[in-house]
Amino acid sequence: MNIIYTIKNSLYINITNKCCCNCTFCLRNDNNGINYNESLWLEREPTIEEILSKLKEYDLNSYDEIVFCGFGEPLMRIDIVIEIATWIKKHTTTSIRINTNGLGSLIHKKDVPSMLTGLVEAISISLNAHNKEKYNQVTQPIYPEIAFESMLEFAKKCKKTVPNVQFSVVDVIGEEYIKQSQLLAEKLEIPLKVRKEI
Ligand code: SF4
Repeated sequence: MNIIYTIKNSLYINITNKCCCNCTFCLRNDNNGINYNESLWLEREPTIEEILSKLKEYDLNSYDEIVFCGFGEPLMRIDIVIEIATWIKKHTTTSIRINTNGLGSLIHKKDVPSMLTGLVEAISISLNAHNKEKYNQVTQPIYPEIAFESMLEFAKKCKKTVPNVQFSVVDVIGEEYIKQSQLLAEKLEIPLKVRKEI
């Protein structure tokens, strides 16, 4: 079961295959991994013990960054993310990032950005679009009525609890939508990264 993988000098933690979205560009639709030979599909959700046991095999200090990102939405397992990040913080100064769809608070009905205070240095939130209609089209969330607003609210709250907040869009949405997303990101004073579809 491929819980940990590396890309360049970053260490990635793959803790779930669950997600509350079904993005049109999601790698899970027709891939098994991310730049990687082994599949990121998990046989089952790994336990905290299994994740820690795998992490202990790596020299955490030797990586530029440790990232919660796999074949699913990491914040579906918010309690595990908190436990693992707390453990990492005790064992290394290497910074931690979470790649998320920004729907954690909606999923758990909790103030997730507050729960991340002091635990992660960076968070990358999938903006995916500049308005609800386009967002729903691209992301296909299970909460179409409230997901877009909830994601924006999540991002605004993260600005108060996480030092580096970034939005991302995937270039498949096209130049005009990227431009509109850029304007929204600027309005919220959050930098936008345009990712290439893999
Ligand atoms: S949020 Fe991420 S894991 Fe979930 S469907 Fe979209 S791209 Fe895939």
